[in-house]
Formats: sequence, C-alpha cells, structure tokens
Amino acid sequence: MSSGEVVQQSKTLMDRPARLQVDPESIAEDDKPPQTGNAFNIWYLKWSGGESSSKRNQIKSKFKVNIKQDTGYTRAKLSSPICLFFARGCCYRGKKCPYFHRIPLDVDSFLPTQDCFGRDKTAEYRDDMDGVGSFNKINRTLYIGGLHMKDNMENKIIKNFQPFGDIEKVRVLYNKSCAFVTFRLESTAQFVKEAMADQSLDNGNEVLYIRWSNEDPNPHAQRQEKRRLEEIAINTVKNLLESVQDSENKKRKVEIQVEEPEDEEAESENVHEIKQIEASIPVNHGITFNTTSLETLSKLRAKQIEKETKNAVANAIGGYSSDDDDDDA
Ligand SMILES: [Zn+2]
Repeated sequence: MSSGEVVQQSKTLMDRPARLQVDPESIAEDDKPPQTGNAFNIWYLKWSGGESSSKRNQIKSKFKVNIKQDTGYTRAKLSSPICLFFARGCCYRGKKCPYFHRIPLDVDSFLPTQDCFGRDKTAEYRDDMDGVGSFNKINRTLYIGGLHMKDNMENKIIKNFQPFGDIEKVRVLYNKSCAFVTFRLESTAQFVKEAMADQSLDNGNEVLYIRWSNEDPNPHAQRQEKRRLEEIAINTVKNLLESVQDSENKKRKVEIQVEEPEDEEAESENVHEIKQIEASIPVNHGITFNTTSLETLSKLRAKQIEKETKNAVANAIGGYSSDDDDDDA
C-alpha cells in the first residue's frame, strides 16, 4: 500500500466515531490510569518509558488494536498526541477520548522532544533499548525479537506490520529468530513498538518483544541513511525559510545550494552546516525543531536578510552590484 493510500484510508476511517476498544466495565480499577495534572497523555505516567516490557515478557497481551475497525474520530484536536491505549488495543473512551485514535501520518507535527503519544523522549537510550527513545537520533528501525521462524518471514512481517504505516526495509536473521524493520516515519516505529509488543504474528503462539534498534552496522546502509538525513535537513531548511518569508508577505525565494560531496572526506562547508543542523533536529519526519536547530536556522535566515538588504540598498542607490555570492561572512 502506498503512503497516499494509507493517508486516504485513514481519512475515510476518521469520518466515523471511534469505537470503544474495551468495555469500561470490564476494566479493573487498577487498569485505569489516573488523570494527572498537566500530563500530556492520560496514559502516560502509567505506561511511559519507565516500565520495562521485560516485566510483561512472555505474557501475550489480552488486547490488540485493529486499525481498520478501531480507527475513528475522537475529541482530539490538531496538536493532540495519539492515544497510547488505542495503540495497545484497550482504550475504553472511544469517541470521547481526547487523543487520536488513528495511526501516525505525514501531516503530524509532534513536539520534537516527545513521541507520537506525547511522552517525553530522553537524551540517551535506555540500556535495554526499550522505552520512549532518544531525541538525539532519528530512529525508524525496530528490533523484533521472539519470532517463531518460518519460511518467508519477510512477507509475514510485512503483512502484520503494514497496517500501521509504510515499511522501508525488513531484514530477518533466521539463525537468531529476530528481525529488523525500518519504517518510513519514525512515528510509525513508535506506534508499532507499542502496538505489536507482546503480540504475535497472525495470531500465532510467539510473544514478540520489541526494542529500538542500534544503528545498522552495514556501511552501505549507513551512507544511505546519512544521505537521507542530509536531504531531510536541506528540505527542512528550505521549507522553513520559505514559510518565514510567506509570513512576512515577501515574494523572495531562497534556494539553498548544496554541493554533492566528492567523497566522504571532502564535504563542502554547506553540507557540514546542514549536518550540524541535522544532528540537532530530533525529528520523526524533519518537520519539527529543537532550540539549537532553530537558532542555527534563524542565523542562516539573518545572514540571508543581511545579504538581501545589501543588494536592495545597492540597487536603490544604483551603485555597484553586490551580487557577491562568495561572501559568506
Ligand atoms: Zn483513547
């Protein structure tokens, strides 16, 4: 299924009210998380990064989300997070839930320091690579453990995981009964990590445990990822500069030229700059920023305004043309 189809399907499903995934009466009082002050997600404190899934290990979850049946509109507003209990198949609030009952989409712009459920990320991963994840790294790859190996596991994994969003790559290690699955969006990985933990494929007997993956040690994959992140950073900077200009009602358009590095050692200054920005953007899809990246971007922007002002002044007084693109001071 292409990403366009996923979005379209999700929109269609959002036309109807979200159904109750479980009967509120059937939930023990202990299962109901408390509404806690300004917590972003009512479920947050109960099931946030603190708890290790190893505690739940080997016990298959009683609930499982069914995206086609369970997706629907709720009281969620534009900037609301996705309902964590929806992902785990056990939200008892249905259309009254203040969080989204749907999969993550491209249009989402979650806070850069939080995951799609509104839970705070941390600087470092936990030692066991469980938990909410790090805001210092875009991670779209999950480690899937506890698989019962059969032929053609790749297809089986795709069939079970695709309802949650686009998959870019599946790598199965048959001798280790595990797999690495890379999603197009980091938010999809966040969602799947909750939705498929303690579940099985095709209602089998296994109990999956899911962790964040460490970096892919394959040098080719690393280069690809590096290039991809650079592209995201470049596009992000472009979009931001353009949107700032739009808001100022200016028609000028900024083109950022980035030279292709000749080899891995010889990177242009621009690429270096972009890389610095990229390193400071803990995004799930290149749309959101942290303080450092915003500062860098505003400096870039200031530089651009300075240059444009200089040109405008030069033109106005009809003097020299200061079209000095080399000026990088
Ligand atoms: Zn909910």
